[in-house]
Amino acid sequence: MRTSQYLLGTVKETPADAEVISHQLMLRAGMVRKVASGLYTWTPTGLRVLRKVEQVVREEMEKAGAIEILMPMVQPADLWEESGRWEDYGPELLRLKDRHQRDFVLGPTHEEVISELVRKEISSYKQLPMNLFQIQTKFRDEIRPRFGVMRSREFIMKDAYSFHTTQASLEATYQAMYQAYCNIFTRLGLDFRPVIADTGSIGGSVSHEFHVLAGSGEDDIAFSDDSDYAANVELAEAIASLDAAPAAARNLEKVATPNAKTITALVEQFNLPIEQTVKTLIVHAADDDGKPSKDLVALIIRGDHTLNDIKAAKHSKVGSPLQFASDEKIREVIGASPGSLGPVGLGIPCIVDRSVACLADFAAGANEDGFHYFGINWGRDLALPEIADLRNVVAGDPSPDGKGTLGIARGIEVGHIFQLGTKYSDAMKVGVLNEDGKHQNLIMGCYGIGISRIVAAAIEQNHDQYGIKWPASMAPFDVVVLPMNMHKSARVQEVAEQLYADLRAAGFDVLFDDRKERPGVMFADMELVGIPHTIVIGERNLDEKAVEYKNRRTGEKETLKIEAVIEFLR
Ligand code: ATP
Ligand code: MG
Ligand code: MG
Ligand code: MG
Repeated sequence: MRTSQYLLGTVKETPADAEVISHQLMLRAGMVRKVASGLYTWTPTGLRVLRKVEQVVREEMEKAGAIEILMPMVQPADLWEESGRWEDYGPELLRLKDRHQRDFVLGPTHEEVISELVRKEISSYKQLPMNLFQIQTKFRDEIRPRFGVMRSREFIMKDAYSFHTTQASLEATYQAMYQAYCNIFTRLGLDFRPVIADTGSIGGSVSHEFHVLAGSGEDDIAFSDDSDYAANVELAEAIASLDAAPAAARNLEKVATPNAKTITALVEQFNLPIEQTVKTLIVHAADDDGKPSKDLVALIIRGDHTLNDIKAAKHSKVGSPLQFASDEKIREVIGASPGSLGPVGLGIPCIVDRSVACLADFAAGANEDGFHYFGINWGRDLALPEIADLRNVVAGDPSPDGKGTLGIARGIEVGHIFQLGTKYSDAMKVGVLNEDGKHQNLIMGCYGIGISRIVAAAIEQNHDQYGIKWPASMAPFDVVVLPMNMHKSARVQEVAEQLYADLRAAGFDVLFDDRKERPGVMFADMELVGIPHTIVIGERNLDEKAVEYKNRRTGEKETLKIEAVIEFLR
């Protein structure tokens, strides 16, 4: 590629409305341009990086046995009605009508569409397990799009969905995906941690997130370098609140700040040792705006309820009576008319951070009986064994597995894998005839990677005051040929043209900076764009048949014989 015929689009000034460094550098390096809030055009340099990430992801997915497909971005509402998420998903789901007034959504994720495909295409256990993936545009009407492509409304995700007849088979594929994700983030040159996570609005039981460590990350993750144990703190904090909230709430007039830190603050303010607090909890659904919903789902867990009780309650439907022996206790504790609680049950998966906000709202509104309640929405199976461990993350220092000391760092969620169980296949009747000739609904897993978010996350970890320092596997170009004052020297031009041709023939992605610019401008632009290798061709070295080499990451410079350049770069 010749710069003179390329859309480089570099900008000197730091854009005023870009808060984080990756957003600033993506604008300055000519990678993206904003179209509207959370909507971006990928300009040529940005698109090159995006394609490199896609390629690594595609290769590792295929290596792990997944098969590529492409589903539509526009999805019919009936599928979402079948799964129940037409009701449940909330305002991140963009709904639209076609000319016949039929309802559609812009896909924020594709469980429904893949379930529709598999229930039609797969009829026998012999065709399973199967793992299908796509690299596709998603739309989520994020309440606060920010940080450029890091949290945009339209973004590119790799999503994979696996189907099984046994839990063991699901676990084997889940493990293969976990390993594929580690391979992907390692190949991309990122410093990352897999952590135990909440399952949010996707649902399911077991789940892990993959976080790129960076100060601008929106999540706190707890981990130790001496141990394999790691967790997303939003989950840990919510679990701590399960113990701490009710007693604190009794003494509470108003919660000022509706966020997860509130819980920790309350524990400190009222000097509540987490272990000694009565285990009481109201689980209730949040409205789309995070306010407690009228259709609240209420459940009080006392110290005398076992995790099995909670697990049983998880399967009861909203509106049906609570299925374990706590109805009386709920009334006793609440002391108010139980009717005011509305339908009782559990099963609306909601995002924990949203629920923590609603929790504060809930506490702020005093109840008639003077008793304040906290609410938490659980999007996961409360009986998971690691929950017991997670209490320790909040409590303090040693790690749950006895190795090392836990520290807390900020992370950017770049991947998320889930064991979904039969949530979608039960709702949408995705089944096969099993070995005994009986109909069986399939067990599902799903596996997401934020392709476009990875580009931003990589910049957060790889930059200096001059610009981006791409890891080799993501760089828009491998090498730039930078001739000095080429337009004044036929010799420089000739060598530069030849080297450009030779490097391309050898398989490198080469940018040939053939602009009529001062060398200083060219160097500054190429450092900003972050191309790993620069070959500088100047009159001075040509007498020795040599060129100057500069490494963007290390800053190391070397003089190379022209004929040795290709070997050196290999
Ligand atoms: P977040 O917690 O950041 O909102 P999520 O948990 O809602 O993400 P998932 O449903 O797990 O996201 O989707 C899989 C992956 O898609 C995420 O791990 C992330 O890398 C990416 N992703 C999700 N939302 C966005 C977004 N608004 N912009 C860019 N990438 C996103
Ligand atoms: Mg989200
Ligand atoms: Mg998340
Ligand atoms: Mg997630």
